[in-house]
Amino acid sequence: MLVRLMYASRAVPSVDQDALIAILRKSKANNPLIGVTGVLCFSQGIFLQALEGGRSAVNQLYNRIAADPRHTQVELLTYEEVGERRFAGWSMGQVNVSRLNPALLLKYSERPALDPYAVSGKVSMALFEELMATASIVGQP
Ligand code: FAD
Repeated sequence: MLVRLMYASRAVPSVDQDALIAILRKSKANNPLIGVTGVLCFSQGIFLQALEGGRSAVNQLYNRIAADPRHTQVELLTYEEVGERRFAGWSMGQVNVSRLNPALLLKYSERPALDPYAVSGKVSMALFEELMATASIVGQP
């Protein structure tokens, strides 16, 4: 049984590029051990992350992440059972923020800024898919 979950959160002020790298490194080390794949986007203090894998593995990881003091306002955007993975190629892919151009953001939202709190989960997932299609997700499996 596979599930896909997406949430948004706000980084605490101390989170900088080094903290982001530490989170990605930890994700890439841990996730293959529990069969979880996904994508993480960090832009203007906002995290948007998709996690997919077995239901128990994803649920447990989400609960652990939600308790992490490096972010707040963790908000579940979508949770669904799925037949196949979308991000199978990434233990934790990273959105190349330089590719987050205003036109792409405007396509999906009222303002040219990443604001998953203001749009539906479907829209945030569509944005991820477009980023994937335009090779804007980087990182090793
Ligand atoms: P350790 O790394 O040994 O950590 C032990 C404890 O210390 C944990 O409670 C941890 O939360 C806390 N901790 C560790 N480093 C810091 C720090 N710099 N500041 C404050 N507290 C700290 N983990 C994954 O495994 N996979 C993911 O996909 C993933 N995505 C994340 C996305 C976001 C936006 C954030 C903020 C965190 C993410 N994490 C992810 C990290 C996750 O929250 C846990 O910190 C991590 O999974 C714990 O790994 P560990 O069991 O090896 O324990």
